[in-house]
Amino acid sequence: MSVLIKGGRVITAADDYVGDVYVEGERISLIGESLDVEADRVVDASGKYVLPGCVDPHTHLDMPFGGTVTIDDVESGQRSAAFGGTTSHVDFVIQPQGSTFADALDEWKSKADGKQLIDMGYHMAVTDLREGGSLEELASLPDQGVTSYKLFMAYKGALMVDDETLFRTMQVAAETGALVMVHAENGDAIDVLVKEALARGETEPKYHALTRPPETEGEATNRAIQLARVAGSALYVVHVSCAEAVEPIAIAREKGWNVWGETCTQYFFVDYTFLERPNFEGAKFVYTPPPRDKANQDVLWNAVRTDVLSAISTDHCAFDWDGQKTLGRDDFSKIPNGGPGLENRLHMIHEFGVRSGRLTLNRMVELLATNPAKLFGLYPRKGTIAVGSDADIVVFDPDKQHTISASTHHSKVDYNLYEGTEVTGLPDIVLLRGNVLVEGDQLVASPGVGQFVKRARFGEELKPAAAVV
Ligand SMILES: [Zn+2]
Repeated sequence: MSVLIKGGRVITAADDYVGDVYVEGERISLIGESLDVEADRVVDASGKYVLPGCVDPHTHLDMPFGGTVTIDDVESGQRSAAFGGTTSHVDFVIQPQGSTFADALDEWKSKADGKQLIDMGYHMAVTDLREGGSLEELASLPDQGVTSYKLFMAYKGALMVDDETLFRTMQVAAETGALVMVHAENGDAIDVLVKEALARGETEPKYHALTRPPETEGEATNRAIQLARVAGSALYVVHVSCAEAVEPIAIAREKGWNVWGETCTQYFFVDYTFLERPNFEGAKFVYTPPPRDKANQDVLWNAVRTDVLSAISTDHCAFDWDGQKTLGRDDFSKIPNGGPGLENRLHMIHEFGVRSGRLTLNRMVELLATNPAKLFGLYPRKGTIAVGSDADIVVFDPDKQHTISASTHHSKVDYNLYEGTEVTGLPDIVLLRGNVLVEGDQLVASPGVGQFVKRARFGEELKPAAAVV
């Protein structure tokens, strides 16, 4: 099948021009002015943006956590991603303690079997190097296209690793060319603060934030940066939420160290006061790191504008308010940590980043697509519009109005972080490797169209399939 997208404003991280994009099979084969070619389908994109499909480097689908399982499985999560213009994501395999990495990866792949609507890769979350996974096995993962290791420096007694495990993983990454990702919070200090709060009878959702002060994020961020320096590995700090964590990353990047960071959509919009909403509604905003004081929002906008932070993800980790978040009605520490958002990243960043004048369109594309693709070994197959790249394309109508709501979103979750927010600008048509995924408010493709992608190592390019020799 061939598709000709005519007369749209093509926007990549670097370019902005009006032109035609011709898709043959799964890839973009021709770009030019007024192309004179036959196509099975012609899309009139005049007045619209032609963007690369967005890449979300941080999601949790079908993940057991906090005594329950995230409400979105691969199918519903990827459906909501597709409607939001996201055509690839990298999800986390969580190594169960005592399990090998191979078993964990098999288990996660089986969760995706037959359900995939968009393309995906996996990070490996290392929880245990003593009983299950070995250093040798860890070193073998990049050959299988799993080229990033994630470590939790928080969630004591569950996912948290000690500094020895963190450091040994960094040493392996320095050898194998994988990227180390850290959830940076001081889990020991937080554990003490949580126990003290509960002993005082402080059980409401707001104590989730009050027991995880920003200094604990700043400390762990700096610790990870310094240890990565010693080990010689590249480091990517996930979900940076506050000035205390932005500062050490800014210093590292100014010094030219191999350190990168992301923030997530919600940290620009949801602040600490949301946790104080009455009748347990605050639990909707219990994710980690927690919503911070509003002053941090300008710090984050500046950080993404100046490339102190290089990507915006969603950390989509959705739990229903009714029945899942309510597990912690009498104890904030039992509220499953996580929030939804896979569908709304482009909506929100276009509205409040681009339309509000904080970001250029090019920078938006870079933060939502190009940089995530580059950092996680998907570029230039993903993350740009170029001859030879996968035809993952969003025809975006910058004038279409939309009110974000749980009543119309495509995730299974029963609430939306941005309920009632009005945005102007919506995906019109979304293509994955030349297949129409979404058209208007219709899902056109069926599960099975998405694929697992073997990612390249950090700093290496993922060549288009047909160019591999
Ligand atoms: Zn996460």
